[in-house]
Amino acid sequence: MRYEDAYRRSIEEPEAFWAEEARAIHWHTPPQRILDYSNPPFRKWFVGGTTNLCYNAVDRHLETRPDQLALVAVSTETGITRRVTYRELYREVNAFAAALREFGVGRGDRVVIYMPNFAEAVFAILACARIGAIHSVVFGGFAAHNLALRIDDAKPKLLICADAGMRAGKVVRYKPLVDEACAAARSPPPAVLVVRRGLDADLAMQPARDFEYAPLRAKHANARVPVAWLESNEPSYLLYTSGTTGKPKGVQRDVGGYAVAMALSMRTVFDVGAGQTMFTTSDIGWAVGHSYNVYGPLIVGATSLLYEGLPTHPDPGVWWRLCAQYGVRSMFSSPTAIRVLKKQDPAWLKKHDLSALKWLFLAGEPLDEPTARWISEGIGKPVIDNYWQTETGWPVLTLLPGLDLKPQKFGSPGLPNLGYRMRVVNEVTGADAAADEKGVLTIVPPLPPGCLSTIWGDDARFLKGYFGHFRELLYSSLDWAIRDADGYYFILGRTDDVINVAGHRLGTREIEEAVATHGAVAEAAVIGVADELKGQVPVVFATLKDASAGASARRAAAEGMLERVVAMLGAVARPARIYVVDALPKTRSGKLLRRSLAALAQHADPGDLSTLDDPNALEEIKRALARGPEWGG
Ligand code: ATP
Ligand code: MG
Repeated sequence: MRYEDAYRRSIEEPEAFWAEEARAIHWHTPPQRILDYSNPPFRKWFVGGTTNLCYNAVDRHLETRPDQLALVAVSTETGITRRVTYRELYREVNAFAAALREFGVGRGDRVVIYMPNFAEAVFAILACARIGAIHSVVFGGFAAHNLALRIDDAKPKLLICADAGMRAGKVVRYKPLVDEACAAARSPPPAVLVVRRGLDADLAMQPARDFEYAPLRAKHANARVPVAWLESNEPSYLLYTSGTTGKPKGVQRDVGGYAVAMALSMRTVFDVGAGQTMFTTSDIGWAVGHSYNVYGPLIVGATSLLYEGLPTHPDPGVWWRLCAQYGVRSMFSSPTAIRVLKKQDPAWLKKHDLSALKWLFLAGEPLDEPTARWISEGIGKPVIDNYWQTETGWPVLTLLPGLDLKPQKFGSPGLPNLGYRMRVVNEVTGADAAADEKGVLTIVPPLPPGCLSTIWGDDARFLKGYFGHFRELLYSSLDWAIRDADGYYFILGRTDDVINVAGHRLGTREIEEAVATHGAVAEAAVIGVADELKGQVPVVFATLKDASAGASARRAAAEGMLERVVAMLGAVARPARIYVVDALPKTRSGKLLRRSLAALAQHADPGDLSTLDDPNALEEIKRALARGPEWGG
């Protein structure tokens, strides 16, 4: 089917379209109504239908593909690979669900999961789904403070953790962080279930609160736990946003709409079906991990490859080796990861047989053209950028190779996905922007199935934060975009990443892109710094591909960057200062922390740094500021 036809139908006849798509999943009782939009912008999809995510991801495949691999959990940190068939997955999930019931966990109870990428994390997620408990996975890289914030918001009945994870060959102990978070939290969970991987020899257990999973698993090895049939709009899980721009929001997902959106996107976007393999390199703590490491691939009966480790260890060819070994059809990663690989010898891209691999999807941050070209040419496969948010749960803007692949435009995540009615509007008037004119990217409600139902426990934040920006009821993505004359979208950064230079509004992202077209630049971050004359001026922080470049090479690169910006964006965007640095501060999800950079550059408090990935990056910025810029004064 042509994309245009499918898209038009999804927008013009949404109920007919989604009624058809709903047939891709198992319903215990079929929906009575496809859409209830009587209380905008809240909407209910598949009203009255009952279903279960675990049933769709596991039980449903027991008859047709019991011995097919459901999950391959590879850890290049521990050296362990776990291959789990659908039959084994069914057993593991039932045992885990039986263990959960021992803690009195049931329908509607929250369970916080704080685990790295290993098989038990997937079992725990699916076990919650099976019994109707609401899981909230917290990214294992978050420290105690972040975990405590999320605990207090979700108020879990149980916290499930691993003893430890590993990163770059070092054991990262999780349990002490859990203890610290529980001590700091106002609503700590009454019980903690620890899955011991044998990584932490000093594991300390608190009597009466902490329990080990192994004895429970043994006890419940043959358990069969009935599926809780949930109404389509009951909550399935909570997932907190990355917190790039402030206090993380507890995105609440439904059951039926999400399952249908997963099935649809696996087919039309990711082009993976039953018996095929998808490799998503995300952490299960992110939206991408939830949707395309766990639910998406399993709901369609595919094999999901889960990875714990670095893209460069034991060597920079490890991901491609896995693609060859497991016949991966679609791979899904992030621009950040590809930029890490880009620093390595490109010969690694050619070492393995990638004949089964059809597509590489990248999402989560802007995909710059040089990175896209480098990887696409290196592996000889189409690279598909897709734009989405934790809130949406699945791609909003993308090309749909599973349906019909439209021509690609570098720098653009493509066209609206099925079911998404997009508008780019003026940030003040809310009027539609013209072609190629910059505005705020919005979605016309009702939001399609799979997107958030609300913010957990905070409908007011849902209404005000997303729908309170324009006179008309529109979901604001809080990102700038343009749509070109061909209907392709380009993301220009976040609406709070705008600087005002002498009355001109400039997106920091546009300047970053211009800087990055300079051949020596690896990555750039641009911020606005207060200026008496102009209001604000752009300041550039950039890393170079050649980390060992000396002082004169760094100065030359900075001058080159300046030329690029002026040539591409005009003198108005001319950076006031350019610093060449060894690292940029990022969140654990790989997003630039521009607000912290801006604060440091203006000698202000960098604010909440709890989502910062590498503290050294901040020190590096402080050193650069003290040393002075490579260009400017
Ligand atoms: P918070 O909302 O708490 O500040 P966050 O927005 O960083 O956190 P996510 O939901 O993980 O949390 O990220 C979604 C954002 O990432 C998008 O709104 C957009 O700014 C950016 N993004 C995602 N994919 C792309 C893409 N393909 N191109 C450009 N930007 C992207
Ligand atoms: Mg966001």
